[in-house]
Amino acid sequence: MHHELYDITFIGGGPVGLFGAFYAGLRGMRTKIIDSLPQLGGQLVALYPEKYIYDMPGFPEVLAKDLAAHLIRQATRFQPTVCLEERAEQLTREDDHWVITTHKGVQHHTRTVVICAGAGAFTPRRLHAEGVADFEGNGVYYGVREKMQFADKRLLIVGGGDSAVDWALHLYPIARETTLIHRRHEFRAHEQSVRQLLESPVRVLTPYELRRVKGNSTVQSATIFHNRTQEEMELPVDAVILNLGFVASLGPIKQWGLELEGNAIKVDHLMRTNLPGVYAAGDGCTYEGKLKLLATGVGEVCIAVNHAKHMLDPGAKMFPGHSSEMTLPPLTG
Ligand SMILES: Cc1cc2nc3c(=O)[nH]c(=O)nc-3n(C[C@H](O)[C@H](O)[C@H](O)COP(=O)(O)OP(=O)(O)OC[C@H]3O[C@@H](n4cnc5c(N)ncnc54)[C@H](O)[C@@H]3O)c2cc1C
Repeated sequence: MHHELYDITFIGGGPVGLFGAFYAGLRGMRTKIIDSLPQLGGQLVALYPEKYIYDMPGFPEVLAKDLAAHLIRQATRFQPTVCLEERAEQLTREDDHWVITTHKGVQHHTRTVVICAGAGAFTPRRLHAEGVADFEGNGVYYGVREKMQFADKRLLIVGGGDSAVDWALHLYPIARETTLIHRRHEFRAHEQSVRQLLESPVRVLTPYELRRVKGNSTVQSATIFHNRTQEEMELPVDAVILNLGFVASLGPIKQWGLELEGNAIKVDHLMRTNLPGVYAAGDGCTYEGKLKLLATGVGEVCIAVNHAKHMLDPGAKMFPGHSSEMTLPPLTG
């Protein structure tokens, strides 16, 4: 069967995988990124988009979501193939290369692999209230892919973090009406966004939780309850958006025959794992003196990529030269 063979595939499109993809492009490698989330950016986007980072070289302070946007722009300069919403489940050897099989059954063929999986694949934290699972993807959502699908809808947004508050602020102008419930009075979201929310037309109810979602072929209503008094309220709604955070799990990666230490993959000074042509970098790898920081993670992935290049093409130097001496294609986006 015909398949496209890539030189290098990054499992994880967090900051480390993104910078690695840029570097691989710089070295002229056919590059792919796979991530389980619907968007690139890893922890920067999933866990703390509105927090400032102060220890990125060259950025005295930068919002995590802005740093992610810069990294994405940099990473896509050489147009790598990006596969989102695919969780890498298996890593197997076929002839002279590796095959990564994802939970969708898709097979990705690649000569080298760099695992930049952080703490593991992120999946949305699910709510086990009545009716929620029945309507998942059809009236109940764990994220927003296409904003306009909520145009003129009556929305219920659940959660108290940045995602919940940001989506409420983004969606209320196009929705018919928007209600946000949170199980505590205090929000975890950025203060400024919470202030904006409270001044907006969004109806905010705390401390409320979701008890059940009802409907026939589509969602028609949601029952919420005050978690101190247990008093219930019935809201007519067309869609429920749950933003309850993410859980991360290395999961299947643990079965790939990699040498592990706790929840991290052991690497040597060239970021090599015990499997040939398989590297690891960033939060998901470990060695003596390992620091889980952005500055060190991007350095590690540079070493991994340049070594992978040299391994595939022994004529190519490990040291790539200085980017300031190169002519690069223009930035897009
Ligand atoms: C609240 C908070 C504040 C922080 N502040 C700072 C700071 O100020 N300075 C600093 O240097 N660091 C900070 N960090 C740490 C920093 O965010 C991490 O070091 C960095 O995100 C690691 O990047 P990564 O690419 O290795 O992993 P991640 O950002 O975790 O990205 C990993 C990606 O891999 C994907 N993935 C995992 N497994 C699979 C799979 N099997 N298939 C497909 N995709 C998969 C995940 O979905 C995820 O998108 C902070 C972290 C947190 C939580």
